[in-house]
Amino acid sequence: MKIKEIVVISGKGGTGKTTLTASLVPFLEDAVIADCDVDAPDLHILLNPRSEEEETFSGSAKAVINEDLCTHCNLCIDHCRFGAIDDTPRINPMKCEGCGVCEYICPVDAIALNDVTTGTVFKGMTGYGPMVHARLVPGEETSGKLVSQVRNEAKKRAESDGKRYVLIDGSPGIGCNVISSITGASTVLIVTEPTLSGLHDMKRVLEVAARFSGKVFVIINKYDLSVEMTRRIEKEAEDNNAPVLMKLPFDKKIVQAVTEKKIPSLAEPDLFEMAGWKNLLQRLRDPES
Ligand code: SF4
Ligand code: SF4
Repeated sequence: MKIKEIVVISGKGGTGKTTLTASLVPFLEDAVIADCDVDAPDLHILLNPRSEEEETFSGSAKAVINEDLCTHCNLCIDHCRFGAIDDTPRINPMKCEGCGVCEYICPVDAIALNDVTTGTVFKGMTGYGPMVHARLVPGEETSGKLVSQVRNEAKKRAESDGKRYVLIDGSPGIGCNVISSITGASTVLIVTEPTLSGLHDMKRVLEVAARFSGKVFVIINKYDLSVEMTRRIEKEAEDNNAPVLMKLPFDKKIVQAVTEKKIPSLAEPDLFEMAGWKNLLQRLRDPES
């Protein structure tokens, strides 16, 4: 059985991406949940998984010099194009990109690349199924690799548990971590808001999603804040073959549910029902319907 990956993304943070992902969880039976927003993960706060396993993740390496072996030929200094090696020679880990040139060039094997821990991957069990999430070490820039690791672990878990779906809370923005979130996914849900920046961000995400994915759908959150902008977003989505499946109104009860760590679709079923919830679930299970 081929596992389907459903990814929820947005052009920027704060559009309701995680609220929507959490809302889907109880309704998408047979899924492993993955939080790929590794820079600011918070889906686990709503789903409260029981921890099963933790693994450190190494997404980069730094060079170190063995001073006992160094003959001070200065070759490494001349060849490091990041200026990471001073005259001592000593390597500045903040500047070292781990490219390995110095290790290759050193005639006496005095340089080695050491793996650096850049994040932690957490595996656990929620009340709705297994979950994989992660946290990037602050300041590290290798989030794309960590996102891939979370996806791989979630897929492995889906295979071993015989699950049909992996539901992914993707990374915000359009950077490499978003590409890592959606490459090869069967369905992408773009969550946006009816503002000019929401429209602009959605266009950029649509461009990225069109290159990498299967079916693309749009959800407009707080659609009633600007009916005019909602119309423009619907038109843009339609022109890009990405139907709008749901329009969720602005309602403080949804904010309240999240504040109380409740799943919004369970706490406020009527709001979701009126917004097109059934249609969305139907299309997720059968994108061609
Ligand atoms: S690994 Fe690359 S960046 Fe780091 S010190 Fe060596 S040459 Fe410079
Ligand atoms: S290339 Fe090797 S031997 Fe030469 S200065 Fe660098 S560490 Fe020392």
